[in-house]
This record gives sequence, structure tokens and C-alpha cells, in this order.
Amino acid sequence: MPDSVSAPLAPPRVRFAPSPTGFLHVGSARTFIFNWLYARHNHGTMVLRLDDTDVERNTEASARSIFDGLRWLALDWDEEYKQSERLALHRHQAEAIFAKGLAYRDFTPAHATDDDNSSAQGAWLFNPGMREMSREESDRRAASGEPFALRYRVPRGPDSGVARILHFVDGVYGAQSRPADEVEDFALLRSDGMPTYHLASCVDDADLRISHIIRGQDHLTNTYKHLLIFEALGAAAPQFAHLPLLVAPDGAKLSKRKHGPVVSVTTYRDAGFLPQAFVNFLCLLGWSPKNDREFLTLDELTDLFTLEGVNRSNAVVNFNEELPFDEKAVWLNAEHIRALPVDELSRRLEPFFEQAAFHPTPEKVAAVTPLIRERIKLLRDAVSAADFFFVSELAPYDPAELIPQKGDAAMALRVLETAQQVLAATNFDHDSLDAALRGAAAQLGLKAGQAFQPIRVAVCGRKNAPPLFETLVVLGRDTCLARIRQAEEKLAPLG
Ligand code: GLU
Repeated sequence: MPDSVSAPLAPPRVRFAPSPTGFLHVGSARTFIFNWLYARHNHGTMVLRLDDTDVERNTEASARSIFDGLRWLALDWDEEYKQSERLALHRHQAEAIFAKGLAYRDFTPAHATDDDNSSAQGAWLFNPGMREMSREESDRRAASGEPFALRYRVPRGPDSGVARILHFVDGVYGAQSRPADEVEDFALLRSDGMPTYHLASCVDDADLRISHIIRGQDHLTNTYKHLLIFEALGAAAPQFAHLPLLVAPDGAKLSKRKHGPVVSVTTYRDAGFLPQAFVNFLCLLGWSPKNDREFLTLDELTDLFTLEGVNRSNAVVNFNEELPFDEKAVWLNAEHIRALPVDELSRRLEPFFEQAAFHPTPEKVAAVTPLIRERIKLLRDAVSAADFFFVSELAPYDPAELIPQKGDAAMALRVLETAQQVLAATNFDHDSLDAALRGAAAQLGLKAGQAFQPIRVAVCGRKNAPPLFETLVVLGRDTCLARIRQAEEKLAPLG
């Protein structure tokens, strides 16, 4: 791999160029993140460019949803452009390329609106009738108002007697080459006068002085066309680095139609991923740090990121019917949750509690957060882990849960009776409750674990709950006593 790709001499200028045709795809988010890391690692500039020239497919709503996703990632950019505001430049450059004889008008209606003709029509490379039309005839037909697309005149062996080989060194996939003869005469302007992706992208990349194009592997073969455009513009081609595709466990490229919401960034946000965990996870899809660590903060990622660390093989996002998210993503999220200062975590949890209609005060959330943070993997898990702190009525639970191991209903009732007396008389702080309840258990001749189970189930409505004394303190004396009385009523029929 050439050094120049990963160690630029001048600070690099990179761009993320989404087309607002849907939502922010996880693969696009990873492209954004890798560009961002490359820029920040090398003290360069991050450009955001909305590739919105496809008026039929672009929508405002989609642009908004892409920005929503990007803002959630909380990675900034330095410059922002919209291609639709730069159409005059695209057309001007297309005309300049035409004036140099490097493009020709194509009046063929069937092809007139195609961006390129490489696909469905098989081996279509160019239409000689158009490519070889005299300038006079072309000018005459254009002057008569006949619509035309402008096509690049790709250099062909038969024209010059020498077959030209196009080549470049990709920062990830290494040396690439292809005979120009195999590249079709792609469109620069469509017959409606709009620039194609190829033209607009290269004109803007040249004009914005983009030094490194880091994008999905699905654009690798477009690069040959782009090299020709840069050449026609008289601009030096940037360095290219293509990123391996993200695929589903079945090997298919991740798509919303096939794989559903797991391909959309906002799904992760709404499920309660922390952006830093999601960024960490995406980085490990197709990139490995030299130190082989997996849990990495943004600073560490920025420090470690190089294009040499990007692999060539497709990266699998693992999910299935039972596991809607990749287990590594979930594990990383739990780690990042634990690494977060409590006040920040509680701020992050608030919207999830709001959404569950608990409406707790920020103070209450701050008190609950340290009790549940080891118990949640996704932020939304906090709703089920902490609901009993916020509801006025516990959800129904099986009264049998109140009965301790090797015990019976009578024992549970004795514990609850004693607990009421203790809780009514003890200072409501952790240490006082700890001493008083342990003392009471001993007096009843029970082990602490046995005695605490009925109390825990009575106040939380479940066995699996945060540490008891802290929980009692946060719930407060009145709630605890009321819930213990209700538990006694539930137990009475079993006693
Ligand atoms: N707008 C293009 C896309 O979303 C950008 C590709 C590129 O980076 O050149 O695929």
C-alpha cells in the first residue's frame, strides 16, 4: 500500500456525499465515520455534500432523516454543500469538456435519460451513429431543439490504434486496472440538462479540492469513469479508498427491503444505543485496530484509525429473528453505558422514561441510574429494569414469588410483618436499613438472603432487582410500607 494514501503530505480534505433518497443506512454511516476519522486523525477537513441532483428520487424528508442520523452520531463536519446549488458549475464544466472534444451529443431517445448504459442492456458501449456524428450535424440538431444527452467520449483502441489502460492504486484494494475499451460512453448530462452523478461528483470533488475519496466498494468500478472526468477537467485525481460492503449473515448486501429496520441508523438510536457505542461497533466492521482491542473510545479510534487497517473482505452484521442486533454491538453498548458518567447516563435515559409515560423528575432519574446501569445493555432496557421506581401501582406479580427458598407463606408473612415495623422505625438511609434489616433477619432465625426476598419482591414486584437497601431508599418509606402491606394481602390466601 503506498504511504501517500494513509499519510498525506498536506492535511487531507475528505467528503461524505449521501444522496437523500431514503434514510441513513448503516453502511453510509460507516462511510461517514471512516471519512471523519481519517480527517480528524490527519488534522484535515471533513466536508458534507448532499448529492441531491436526482430530483425524482430526492426528498426533503429523506435529507432530514439523514441529518437526524448524522446529528445523533454527534460527529461534526467543517464544510457543507448541496449539489443542487452547484448546477451551473456542473453544466459549465460539461460544456468545457464538450468544447475540448472529449464528449459528444447523443440524440438517441432510448438512452437519453440513462445515467449510464452498462447495466440492463448488456454490452452496450456506445452508439457509433452518435459518437461519430459530424460536429455540423450535431450543432444543427441541437439548434433545432432536439434533446440530447452529453456523453463522455471514452478513448478506444480502434480510434487511436492503442488500447488505453486506466489504472489507479486503491488505498484498500491495491492496484486496479481496466482497459478503457471496456468502459461505456457514460453520460455527463442527461437530456433534461441535469448532471449525472459521475459528472456532478467529480466536478465538485475537483472544485472542493477533495484529496481522498473514501466510499463504499460498490463505487470501485465507477472510479475508471471518474479518472477520465478528472483528466478532462485538467484536475489531479484524488486518492481513492473503497470500503468493504456490509452484508447480512446470508451474505447479501444489507438492504431495507430484505433485512428491515436493522439497516437504518435511527433504529439503533431508538433502541437505546449510545452513539459512541454504535460508532465503535461500525468501526469494527471492516477495520481492525493494530492493538486488536474492541472497546474503543472516539479519541482512541481517532488516534488508531488508518486506511491500512481496513480489510478487503465484506463485513458481516450478525442478526436474526431472536437477536435483532449484532451481539457485539449490544455488548459494546453495555460497556459504553458503564463507562459513561452517571449524570450523562441519566440524561440519556430521561427520554426513554418519558416515552414510557413515567415522567419522572430528573432527580429521581439521577437516583435510579446508578442502581440499574449494570443491569442494562440498551438504554431502552432501563424502562423494564426501573419501572417499579416510577409507577404508582406495581404490575401484577405471582404471590408465590414472595415465598423465600426453603420457606413457606407463613415465613414470608412473618418477614413482611417484621419488615414493616423495622422500616417504620429506622432512618431511611442505606447503612441504617442495612443494619436494621440484617438484625431483624437474625432475630427471625433466617439468613439475610431468605429474609430479603419477600421484601424485595414486595417493593419491586420481582426477584431480579437492584440492590435492596439502595432501592428502598430511592422508593422512600411510604411507598415501601404501602407495597409491603399489599404483598401481605396477596399472601394471605396462601398462608
Ligand atoms: N452520492 C453517492 C452515493 O450516495 C456518493 C458516492 C461517492 O462517494 O462518490 O452513493
